[in-house]
Amino acid sequence: MPDEKEFIPKSAMSIHAHPDDQEFTVAGTLARWAATGCEITSVILTSGDGGSNDPTHDASYKPTLAAIRETEQSAANQVLGIHRTIYLHLPDGELEPTVTLRKELTKIIRTHRPEVVVTGDPQAVFYGNGYINHPDHRAAAQLATYAVFPSAGSRLVFADLLAQGFEPHNVKRLYLHGPEKPDTWVDITDTIELKITALQKHASQLGEWNPEKMIREWATEEGKPQGLNYAEAYKVMVLEQDQPEN
Ligand SMILES: [Zn+2]
Repeated sequence: MPDEKEFIPKSAMSIHAHPDDQEFTVAGTLARWAATGCEITSVILTSGDGGSNDPTHDASYKPTLAAIRETEQSAANQVLGIHRTIYLHLPDGELEPTVTLRKELTKIIRTHRPEVVVTGDPQAVFYGNGYINHPDHRAAAQLATYAVFPSAGSRLVFADLLAQGFEPHNVKRLYLHGPEKPDTWVDITDTIELKITALQKHASQLGEWNPEKMIREWATEEGKPQGLNYAEAYKVMVLEQDQPEN
């Protein structure tokens, strides 16, 4: 159904579980929007403190790793032109779609009032035969989706937030990456370099591996159905229609 013509929001919020999730998935879109002046907030739920299998590391390394990964994420966001980054510092590998966390995200959405929210597909459990979607990814996607609807826009849901001055906010569109059946493609031909550069900022996760080839292959695959060189594909929920501008 979407996209009539290309929709570019004036403000957006990207919500993901770990540092680097955003760069692997939607960074080309965010860079494209940021270049037009779209104000983007990046919300990172955990700080990726489980992201090491180095046998010399134990639990005492986790705070150090969290700090390293936040620094990497902030550097990536700077490359993409993202305006602000919010870290919730939740423990990696233990994310659950709780009402408490949904409320926290509702507060963040009501504070920054994005036109669009970008997150993963809350329905994705398996990708092909080789990848079980990380449960943190799915939890982040569920949290973001249900914070957008119904929580952010419903006045009397989390009424104590209202009492504290957090007025309801209706997000217009929800972009879900990694869906089984995409319906919207964002052309990232002009921003794939930025996507790769941003992803390369996550040095603690990449080691010696250069992800450039894989990112180009994915973007080529996603662009094919639309005749685009490089694209990121989404399922888009249109929650509020735009009024035509005069
Ligand atoms: Zn992840």
